[in-house]
Amino acid sequence: MYTMDTTLPPDAKAFIDDAKLERMVADMHEDPEAVRKVIAKSLRKEALTVEETATLLGAESPELVEEIFEAARKLKRDVYGNRIVFFAPLYVGNFCINDCKYCGFRRSLTSAVRHTLSDEELVRETEALEDLGHKRLILVYGESPKYSPDFIAHTVRTVYGTKKGHGEIRRVNINAAPLDEEGFRIVKAAGIGTYQIFQETYHKKTYAEWHPANTMKGDYLWRLNAFDRAFRAGIDDMGLGVLFGLYDWRFEVLAMVTHARYLQEKFGVGPHTLSFPRIKPAEGLALNLKYQVDDAAYKRLVAILRLAVPYTGLIMTAREPAELRREVLAFGVSQIDAGTKLEIGGYQEKREEGEQTLNREQFQVGDTRSLDEVIGEIMEQDYIPSFCTSCYRLGRTGEHFMEYAIPGFIGRFCTPNAIMTLSEYLYDYASPETRAKGMALIARELEKLDPKLRDEVKSRLARVKNGERDLYF
Ligand code: SAM
Ligand code: SF4
Repeated sequence: MYTMDTTLPPDAKAFIDDAKLERMVADMHEDPEAVRKVIAKSLRKEALTVEETATLLGAESPELVEEIFEAARKLKRDVYGNRIVFFAPLYVGNFCINDCKYCGFRRSLTSAVRHTLSDEELVRETEALEDLGHKRLILVYGESPKYSPDFIAHTVRTVYGTKKGHGEIRRVNINAAPLDEEGFRIVKAAGIGTYQIFQETYHKKTYAEWHPANTMKGDYLWRLNAFDRAFRAGIDDMGLGVLFGLYDWRFEVLAMVTHARYLQEKFGVGPHTLSFPRIKPAEGLALNLKYQVDDAAYKRLVAILRLAVPYTGLIMTAREPAELRREVLAFGVSQIDAGTKLEIGGYQEKREEGEQTLNREQFQVGDTRSLDEVIGEIMEQDYIPSFCTSCYRLGRTGEHFMEYAIPGFIGRFCTPNAIMTLSEYLYDYASPETRAKGMALIARELEKLDPKLRDEVKSRLARVKNGERDLYF
């Protein structure tokens, strides 16, 4: 039987220098000329250094901050195009041996209703998500001996094996506690997409305050070293994250960029995605945080991350309210969730939209709109909703993330794939209004393609109309 080997590899080190980053935060000041230089570098799609990121963080005046926003919007428009990829989180189980003070799953919270989905329940949850039109899921687990690598691998395979009508999940990402190398190998073999682990805070003293020392998660270095172990186990698709609100957001942005550059330098592969959730109300959590990130700071941090890591996807979750999500999408967010239910087993329950029971979920959702509603709305803003999973399935991951690296790749592959997967959604799951909006959007997008590609996409769209599915480029 598998038991986790918690010995750290000899090269494990805390490569975040807290004192240095704190000095950088203390020294921040506004230098318009330097900011503009850094923006220009970023618009050339070059990754920024930690120092250059600090220069952007020093901008405070509304005019200069607006220049940063505009640069992020421009980078998004010119480089990434107008696609937004959709996913949904699926909570598999909330037993947890840890006691993270911000989390509704923490072990000391006796009012939490604990449950792990049975195979049958997992199948029903997956079918319910397929019925909404989802093709990409992220499975989420508490940390518990119940959720061994074999268990996680089994749940991933169960989800892949669940098909209903035209419904299928084509990519399963996971967000689970860090494993040892052997554990990472076991989950990798089940065909996971991204392995997501958030450091929560990179600031060691703060980390210790929120994660009690007598818990597994209390070990900062075990967590910080997780992606090194994952990489050695063959996982080259990783998602970093910070839980914003625990410590100074500017420190955390510098630390995230440090982590991304560390992975790039050590393994030749940077993270695939960055997540930047803000802490939300949870069962038994009074939110009077010293480092709470307000909306103005949140917008700055997203725009600056966009400029700092040009080859990395940005994920904004439904933790954030609808209004803010609308605005921040334009700064270069590449993935969002919608129609999210955090209660274990919540997707198959028929409940009023927006209804939440805090003692059954990890935290409160900010954007409770349905998937169909969000899709309809973003299409009005000329974004193409995408359910594409093509790169991952063709092995285009790790150093081969071509989406951003190869000039013209987005136009030749990503946009056509977004159109194809959107058309499937429109035929199979959309409301009549959303379908009408989507068909009009597809017609507009086809006009923008070069003629040869347009003909090919049109002929594949005709096949989708005739019932074929999954015709990706
Ligand atoms: N248990 C695993 C772990 O902690 O890494 C994985 C799943 S955990 C449920 C997923 C993430 O939820 C955590 O990494 C944390 O950042 C986030 N989270 C926990 N409590 C939160 C809260 N009150 N508001 C927003 N996000 C929260
Ligand atoms: Fe457990 Fe993860 Fe919640 Fe911490 S954040 S209590 S490890 S589920």
